[in-house]
This record gives sequence, structure tokens and C-alpha cells, in this order.
Amino acid sequence: MRRVFVLSALAALLVPALAAATPAPMPLQVQLSLRTLIDKMDELVPAPPDVSILTTEPVSRSESSGYGWREDPIRKHQKFHHGTDYRGKHGTPVVAAGPGTVTFAGRRGGYGNVIFVDHGNGVITRYAHLRRIEAKLGTVVAAGDRIGQIGSTGRTTGPHLHFEVRLEGRSVDPNTALAVAEIMRESPSAGVLAAHALAPELQANARDMQDTKNQRALRRALETETKRPERKHAPKRDRALM
Ligand SMILES: [Zn+2]
Repeated sequence: MRRVFVLSALAALLVPALAAATPAPMPLQVQLSLRTLIDKMDELVPAPPDVSILTTEPVSRSESSGYGWREDPIRKHQKFHHGTDYRGKHGTPVVAAGPGTVTFAGRRGGYGNVIFVDHGNGVITRYAHLRRIEAKLGTVVAAGDRIGQIGSTGRTTGPHLHFEVRLEGRSVDPNTALAVAEIMRESPSAGVLAAHALAPELQANARDMQDTKNQRALRRALETETKRPERKHAPKRDRALM
């Protein structure tokens, strides 16, 4: 009974309030300038990249790591690592991360033997240090198609696949890109949000957490974060419990 009363009282209050909140038609001038504003916002805030086409890890059953700032393993100075490295023995198969067209297959500088695959929509993947290239320029590949073998050609200290994901010409963390792609396929709206992780500002400041110096810096940062100044007369607590 009481519940019914509360509900009808609420309705009595809300119905006129809602009626008042119904927007009056906007003058044409205001509608037009709002349209211009929305169009401008679309120009200023670019649509997040659609990476959902990337479905497959280029090397199966292998750990990958290493995107971002790190100490260069050869020259020992800070250098940005534009890809992720998949460990593997010489000859381990390398597959295309998604459907696309081979736009480069050959030797190129530090990459050694390398393949570029264009997936459309500004998404390009690169597979470097290959021992053998098994795809020709212009070949149309499907996700998971074998395109080469792990090797150590080019600038490398040992056999591994250097894998890059490029969006509109800039590199992003391949692990993040593959994770965002999966979310995009499962839920496009969640994917749009997740794609913000691929924003250039975030990606440009990424740190390779395989780098021991970066690991040390993170440990130090976490220590200062959790260390609280001890109060002088605070009762002593059991260290083991802290
Ligand atoms: Zn690499």
C-alpha cells in the first residue's frame, strides 16, 4: 500500500517535470551550427583505427615481448623498439596475422629478410629477420597462411621474429593491437573504447618491460608509491604482516 502511494507520488512529480523537459524544436540556425560543430569534432577526433582484421599470432605457442623504449641490445643506448619479438628456433613457421596483400618481400637493412602485408584500412604488418621468405610480392594471403621461417637475418643477436603492426604509418604495440582486435570482434562498441589504447601519445611513450633498466625503474616507482612514512610513536607491528 505504502509502495503504491510512493510510486503515484513520484509519478505525479515526474510527469509534469518530464513534459517540461521535452525539448522545444530548435531554431534552424542553432541546428545548423550544431551540425557544423559535430562535423568539426569528427575532423578533430579521428575515428579509432579498425584493427579487427588481425586475428592470428604470427608464431604459434611462442612468447612475445618488447615494444617501446629500451636499451638497444647492440649499441647500448635508449632506442625505440617498434615491434614485438617472438622467440623461436631457426625454421619455425611464420604466418600472416590477417588477410591482406604482400607489398614487400625481400631484404631491407636491419630487418634482414622481411615481408610487409597490407591489410587495408591503413593496417600493415611486418615480419622481419626471416631465414626464408615463402610469399611473393603481390600474393594475397589469408590469416594464418604460412609466409616464411624464423631466422636471424639483418640486425639481430639471435633467431627470432620481429613483428610490427603499423596504423597509418606509425607503429603500435602488436600485443595491444591483437588484444584490441579481439575485443572489436566480440563487441564493436567496447572495441571503439579499447582502441584508445592505440592512441599515438600512449604508444610513443611505451616502455619495453623486458628491458632490465625499465624493470628496475618500475620496481623503484612501485616501492616509493607503497612506502608510507612511518610515524615516530606508532606501535611496532609484526613486519611479516606488512
Ligand atoms: Zn625486434
